[in-house]
Amino acid sequence: MTAQTHGFKAEVQQLLSLMIHSVYSDREVFLRELLSNAADALDKVRFIGLTDSELVSASTDEPGVRVAVDAEAGTITIDDDGIGMTEEEVVGNLGTIAKSGTRAFLEQVKDAADAPKLIGQFGLGFYSAFMVAERVTVETRSAHSGSPAVRWESAGEGTYDVAEGEREHRGTSITLHLREDSKDFADAEKLSSIIRKHSNFLPWPITVGEEQANSGKALWMEPPATVSEEEANAFYKTVAVDWKDPAFKVHMSVDSPIQYRALLFVPAQRPYDLFYPDMKKGPRLYVRRVLIDEHAEGMLPDWLRFVRGVVDSEDIPLNVSREMIQKTAVVQKIRKQLTKRILKQLSRFANRPPEEPEEIEASEEGDEALPPAPKPTYTDVWNNFGVLLKEGYYHDKADWGDALLPLLRFNALSHDDGTGLLSLAEYVEAMPEDQEDIWFITAESRQAALASPHLEAFRKRGWDVLLLTDTVDEWFVQGLEGFEGKTVKSVARGELSLDEDEEAEDADKADLEAFTPWVEGVLGDSVAGVRGSSRLTDSACVLVDDEQGMSANMERILRSANQDVYGGAKRVLEVNPKHPLIKSLASLHEAGQTEVAEPMVRMLLDDALLLEGTVRDAQAMGRRLQDLLLLAAKSAAGN
Ligand code: ADP
Repeated sequence: MTAQTHGFKAEVQQLLSLMIHSVYSDREVFLRELLSNAADALDKVRFIGLTDSELVSASTDEPGVRVAVDAEAGTITIDDDGIGMTEEEVVGNLGTIAKSGTRAFLEQVKDAADAPKLIGQFGLGFYSAFMVAERVTVETRSAHSGSPAVRWESAGEGTYDVAEGEREHRGTSITLHLREDSKDFADAEKLSSIIRKHSNFLPWPITVGEEQANSGKALWMEPPATVSEEEANAFYKTVAVDWKDPAFKVHMSVDSPIQYRALLFVPAQRPYDLFYPDMKKGPRLYVRRVLIDEHAEGMLPDWLRFVRGVVDSEDIPLNVSREMIQKTAVVQKIRKQLTKRILKQLSRFANRPPEEPEEIEASEEGDEALPPAPKPTYTDVWNNFGVLLKEGYYHDKADWGDALLPLLRFNALSHDDGTGLLSLAEYVEAMPEDQEDIWFITAESRQAALASPHLEAFRKRGWDVLLLTDTVDEWFVQGLEGFEGKTVKSVARGELSLDEDEEAEDADKADLEAFTPWVEGVLGDSVAGVRGSSRLTDSACVLVDDEQGMSANMERILRSANQDVYGGAKRVLEVNPKHPLIKSLASLHEAGQTEVAEPMVRMLLDDALLLEGTVRDAQAMGRRLQDLLLLAAKSAAGN
């Protein structure tokens, strides 16, 4: 093999220049990244060792990671007994970016000023070495017999060199030639403490000099009662690559009928890729502490994809492919039990009394010492993952509907200061005696929902309405038939039979008997019908979804996803007989002045469309408005 110089791919260069120029204060995370890579490499070689007995030997009988420091030379070397890399792999892995997370990072870092904030959120892997090193040397040898050692070197500026290496044993060693401003990292004590902080629970021994720096425990195998919150949180951070403590954990140790351990976490913040199509889902799957799958998708339902952690089971068959593992009866059973436990813990978390905020002592340094972040509440969990729980209700109602219903939270008319959320139980509890059903409205936003004329009658009666503004809600409410014997109904659908007020009988109202059929004739095909309304107090008219048809909001969602909705569903125009405009129009009609009333009636429909934000032919509407203005101007001018 001859030595060669290669150019980095463009996105690597972009990332490198961010690393090199980063003013990120937590530069120590480079160590966590390199150690995670080393541990992954050790996991991988243990896995292929199950079936391949011809592997290149390790340098020691106790595989692990060794961190060495040369303070004089200003270098740190991280040496592992992992799977190593062939020349081709070196070029592929260390010259390009394979990982979608890193790409996502680059997409988000629009300018370098954002970088420090964002660096911590993403696992940045190997390239983070350049936050502290001016030059990085990699010596590696693949565990597959017959591949020669390879040496990779780069100063992180555009190119890297690949040449023959000298390593005899399998694995990889990475030498960081520290930058002047990072020389303080060449200190065994400091490195050990960084390891304890960020990498304590990597399940391989990491030694600094002679001493093992991490606990190396497979924490999930420990009896749950012996695992402290600090330990579990530190473990979470290494598994989930998150810098925030999780909202809560679920630790299970089950021995029969299936034997497994699980240590799972609900994060306190949304993983950045939660709604990316290529999100890597599922916990890490181990079989007797051997990592089988970094993301075992079938271990949890798709809607629990925000749950992170580890599952380890001796009963999982290893003689089937990874894809098939998901379908085995054992995994199906574990999945069911895990789901049940997670939902139970969510329910406990939801019902937990709120904690007193901790007293924060004033610090001498003033503003520099930040107060500890407040502990996440169920509202935080709901705001981050509620959409997925609704997705779960919609997809898995038969199995999990009963467990999910009490976990659901809603915005509501009664809470329209925008703060609190309501559970269905709370809604039902607060229902006045004369209210029989649970009412909801779906809309694009909270603001749009609150502006809807559909809410007028409900406001007047003091009946609460759930405000549903997530895209998934349209599907979700279709599945939500009832709660505690109450029917769930849309405020915008069908004929409303809200009892009329006593005085309404004799109040002066327009006589609609002849008027509405005439309006129907004028509007023709654009509506399914016209009728008098008992929904409205202030507005003159509103469009109502047909009992069976597609809702206006669903139509909006489908259109914005460019789906063909076949012209949409036709809806009923309801007019308010008590409104002065309707009264005037009805008397115009009665007096035979239909020529004047007609353009106004057309405009009435336009107005209803405008109010709900679904106008489609704005030009035609503009012309109708002009006709109307002309009429008004003429009449004002007296001609
Ligand atoms: P990530 O680890 O997130 O995939 P990195 O940039 O950290 O991204 O590493 C890229 C790839 O380089 C890894 O996926 C792995 O294949 C390889 N690699 C990195 N470090 C090692 C190592 N110590 N031993 C073997 N392979 C490694």
